[in-house]
Amino acid sequence: MNKKGTLFVITGPSGAGKGTVLKQVIQSLEGLYFSVSATTRKPREGEVDGVHYHFLTKERFEELIEKDRFLEYARYAENYYGTPLDPVEEHLEQGHDVILEIELQGALQVKKRLPKAVLVFIAPPSFEELENRLRGRGTETEEVICKRLAIARQECANMDEFRFIVVNDKVEDAADRLRAIILSCRCLRENLGFTLN
Ligand code: ADP
Ligand code: 5GP
Repeated sequence: MNKKGTLFVITGPSGAGKGTVLKQVIQSLEGLYFSVSATTRKPREGEVDGVHYHFLTKERFEELIEKDRFLEYARYAENYYGTPLDPVEEHLEQGHDVILEIELQGALQVKKRLPKAVLVFIAPPSFEELENRLRGRGTETEEVICKRLAIARQECANMDEFRFIVVNDKVEDAADRLRAIILSCRCLRENLGFTLN
């Protein structure tokens, strides 16, 4: 059977713990390809070009937009972020499940373009906890933290757009729930093309 992979879109406010939860899930499940996004933001300490992101100049990013090389892209807190189209298409064709970790505007673009994509929202247990996690991570300036918290309110107000919601209370529990979603989608009859004659 030559079946295509499923596209999973993981969204949630900055600091909710998307990266932390996904790391656990990706390490423990076979057949998942994590899409490496492109961005114009500066690398954080320890981030490696081509591994965490493709770090691009604004000019290069806009050139790729012109050439239609993104599945989706958005401006977020004054930088561009986008999903390179080719690797996603290739992996889905090969039957691998693909994970995108992207913000709200991009998730809504994917939903429109590929309605079969599975949208999952990772929510913090409370707004107060989100603020603590974002500050505790220590990777952003106070100005950027405030911008991200303002965007977080809009993102949480759009939770209804998502088929699944995973509250990241404890990392292990949230990872279990996300794994369960992925494994369940792998068993959907339409994904298996299953018929008995
Ligand atoms: P995101 O990718 O959504 O921006 P991160 O994965 O970077 O978020 O997590 C933000 C911060 O919160 C990190 O310092 C991380 O260690 C911490 N964190 C993530 N999940 C939890 C959790 N369930 N409980 C407590 N802290 C968490
Ligand atoms: P960060 O700067 O914290 O790495 O990411 C900021 C936000 O951009 C996060 O919500 C993250 O999910 C989102 N993001 C990362 N890659 C992409 C992408 O390719 N497209 C879109 N639309 N958002 C992305």
